[in-house]
Amino acid sequence: MSWLVRIRPGLIIAFGTSAVRGAAYRHFKPPSGEESPNPHTFTPYTLAEKQPISSTSAIFTLRHRDGATDPEAVKEAWIRSVWNVQVKQPQLQIARAYTPLPPKADVNNVDEVKAEDVMLLIREEESGEVSTYLHRLPENATIKLRGPNVECELPHDIKEVIFLAGGTGIAPAMQVAQALGRRTGRMMHILWANRRREECIGGISDEHQPTNPILHGSNAGWLTNLFRFGRAQLAAQATLVDNHSSQGKGVIVQELDALKERSKAATRELNVQYYVDEEKSFIQSGDVAKRLHLDSQDEKGSRLILVPGPDGFIEHWAGKKLWVGGREVQGELGGVLEQMDLKDWKVFKL
Ligand SMILES: Cc1cc2nc3c(=O)[nH]c(=O)nc-3n(C[C@H](O)[C@H](O)[C@H](O)COP(=O)(O)OP(=O)(O)OC[C@H]3O[C@@H](n4cnc5c(N)ncnc54)[C@H](O)[C@@H]3O)c2cc1C
Repeated sequence: MSWLVRIRPGLIIAFGTSAVRGAAYRHFKPPSGEESPNPHTFTPYTLAEKQPISSTSAIFTLRHRDGATDPEAVKEAWIRSVWNVQVKQPQLQIARAYTPLPPKADVNNVDEVKAEDVMLLIREEESGEVSTYLHRLPENATIKLRGPNVECELPHDIKEVIFLAGGTGIAPAMQVAQALGRRTGRMMHILWANRRREECIGGISDEHQPTNPILHGSNAGWLTNLFRFGRAQLAAQATLVDNHSSQGKGVIVQELDALKERSKAATRELNVQYYVDEEKSFIQSGDVAKRLHLDSQDEKGSRLILVPGPDGFIEHWAGKKLWVGGREVQGELGGVLEQMDLKDWKVFKL
């Protein structure tokens, strides 16, 4: 059954989300007296580690206080969904959604889900209430979260995915890559755009070689780049690489490499293209178009273009999401994708 239906040209709606949420609750309801993660009440976790990724983002590793294992709903979510948890800012009593990163990719154990720790890639937004609060917390602090909240479920017959990710939108892309890695013969293209190279140090696109050597780990061009980027910025990048990578690659880039390696066993292909604003490299409609028309087009199955937030990114590519009757809905297909011949590809805004 497809979870996306076009009820008239350009208008897309999602089926299944609320049904899945209901199902998630049934699986996830905590046994009475036991504090288990669930979508309705906040469960305390300990901030076990905060690993800087760039000057504005870090991976937060959250550990359940009582060492509880993941409920069925979380295990299910890893297999077929894009999902998030809500994290609470206790003083203001507000919460924001964050997307758990997949457990470390294990090439030898595709089916095993060991996701007891919750890992979140969180960017500190300037003056952002919750992200700033979280970034200021010391290790071992208590962080309360609830979930899982399933945003969408991948169709069973999924064949191919194009994922347009901006910044922390790489987290849901990694969830999908991980889920497709469990199924055979699937193809996924991640097009990941960042403002700064520091977010994806050492990331080399599968399709073409980089032209800016210092940003990709070579010594050539050091002087040119020293003038262009400044000593402080280069020093900061070098520190991030030294701290978090043994191969001159950032942590997320290493994880994407591992997902690619892991997907070789089951998925026909996972490829990643990196785009960096400060290097004047941007995702173009042509980058999407050429992936719509690959040889695999004759094969049966669903083909999806997934576009996660922030809002401006979604609007640019696929038009605005809307609020109707207190619920966020997909809205008309707009933006760049509306101008393209998408053939049988469906678009879903995350
Ligand atoms: C489904 C989903 C998944 C998500 N996953 C992730 C994830 O994995 N990682 C991640 O980092 N983020 C993720 N987000 C975004 C996250 O939920 C928060 O929106 C983000 O962290 C900012 O929240 P905040 O409370 O820090 O900022 P807010 O306080 O909400 O502020 C957001 C921005 O608006 C500005 N602002 C606030 N009020 C005003 C005003 N009155 N006038 C002008 N500007 C203003 C702030 O300066 C800030 O830059 C996700 C969002 C959704 C919906």
